[in-house]
Amino acid sequence: MDSQKLRTEGKKMLDFVADYWDGIRDRKPLPDVKPGYINDLVPAQAPATPEDWAKIFDDLENVVVNGATHWHHPHFFAYFPTALSYQSIMADILSGGIAGIGFTWKSCPSMTELEMSSLDWVVDLMGLPEHFKNSHNGPGCGIIQSTASDSTMIAIMAARATHVERIKSEPTFMKWVSETGVGKTLKNIFDRVKVNKTLVARASVTVDDEASGMITPYFHDPTVFERFVMYCSDQAHSSVEKGAMLSAVRMRKLKATRGFLGNYGVSRETLQNAIKEDRARGYIPFMFLATVGTTCSCGVDQVDELGPVCVEEGLYLHVDAAYAGTFALCEEFKYLIRGMEHVDSFNFNLHKAGMVNFDCSPMWFKNGTHVSRYFNVDAVYLAHEYQTTASDYRHLQVALGRRFRSLKIWFVLRNMGVDKIREYLRRTELLAAEFSKLILENGKFEHFVPQHLGLTCFRLKNSTNADNEKLCNAINDDRRIHLVPST
Ligand code: PLP
Repeated sequence: MDSQKLRTEGKKMLDFVADYWDGIRDRKPLPDVKPGYINDLVPAQAPATPEDWAKIFDDLENVVVNGATHWHHPHFFAYFPTALSYQSIMADILSGGIAGIGFTWKSCPSMTELEMSSLDWVVDLMGLPEHFKNSHNGPGCGIIQSTASDSTMIAIMAARATHVERIKSEPTFMKWVSETGVGKTLKNIFDRVKVNKTLVARASVTVDDEASGMITPYFHDPTVFERFVMYCSDQAHSSVEKGAMLSAVRMRKLKATRGFLGNYGVSRETLQNAIKEDRARGYIPFMFLATVGTTCSCGVDQVDELGPVCVEEGLYLHVDAAYAGTFALCEEFKYLIRGMEHVDSFNFNLHKAGMVNFDCSPMWFKNGTHVSRYFNVDAVYLAHEYQTTASDYRHLQVALGRRFRSLKIWFVLRNMGVDKIREYLRRTELLAAEFSKLILENGKFEHFVPQHLGLTCFRLKNSTNADNEKLCNAINDDRRIHLVPST
């Protein structure tokens, strides 16, 4: 394929996509395929010689679209919404077309700087604290991560490192180091681990053993976070458990109780009691991960209530507002971001309710300058002459490479406009409210929790879980409507 062919075939591909959208209502949300269906359509070996593009294009309907779950079908109600706009599709074309990777400012200045300024637009539109802005003269900053799960993982590692750093810089720690001379060899530290676990949980140092080349990471020193424990609601998304597991820290799921809006969230007392109990048991509470808009019932951990507890107790506070966060663009949903001034990091997905195609997860740090030190690894080939004055986004993520995601925000906000997004969010909420009314009027069903934003949770009246599971399976087997259960 050459650039001339890209012009002609690319236009046909755009027509294919536009036809897909125009005809989506004629499809069913769930495809009629079974696992392994592709084996009958795709040969086991890659072709030995290039195939004609027309032949590949002819396979698109049969192999790809026919086996796809249609997330934007009007009868798709499963999981959570994933966003779509034609402006975003255009941005993805341009991002793929430029095919650059902006891990440092120098590796793609426009990728870095457009991300910084488009996120500042979002801060203003949502009414988030000014200190999150990239243009603010404080240490706060914003970055677009791929997913809420990635953001959670980054936040846990940042919180862990913040606490390790704090412990290591405590006078008691320094005293202990100077008295014992620890730090000379790793073995010395391990010996002490056996002798006094509590002491070691509070004290260890980086040991670079020159002879063996072994490095113990200063901020991610496992001997210090051995007794760390983080908290989240028992309604938090599975990615929180995964993040804690991969960060090798203990996690305690706190019981969410009915409170704000009649939905499930962690109360201030529950968090306070957990911290007290765990300290008494010799653990070191270091983080609370609040969820604003839980996956199962759109419950809210009230940040304005819980934030002051985290500040008092010295816990890092991250807010996962994956789905619900976008709604804060509307005045009437601003209650979702009350208390943001207490938050160390905040993330939501524009790719859920924000009309921006996957993937686009804005994440802000109150003290990004601090956090970027925890992800900093130096390599000669990544260094550049502006690295002390410009932003290098590689220091706030795990991967090195990154896509030009800000184009999606830039196109959508400029060409669609924020009022259109607000209109969409309000309509989503109204439709959910309308559906909730129908549920109540029908008489056979009841709400499990009050409808919140675009989510309505309902069940059969006087029924068991098995009855509801049977109903849900029957609806999905029919394939005209797609739903998922929640607990
Ligand atoms: N957090 C919450 C509250 C969610 O509802 C979801 C969605 O499933 C996620 C995290 C995961 O989102 P992502 O796919 O962006 O990692």
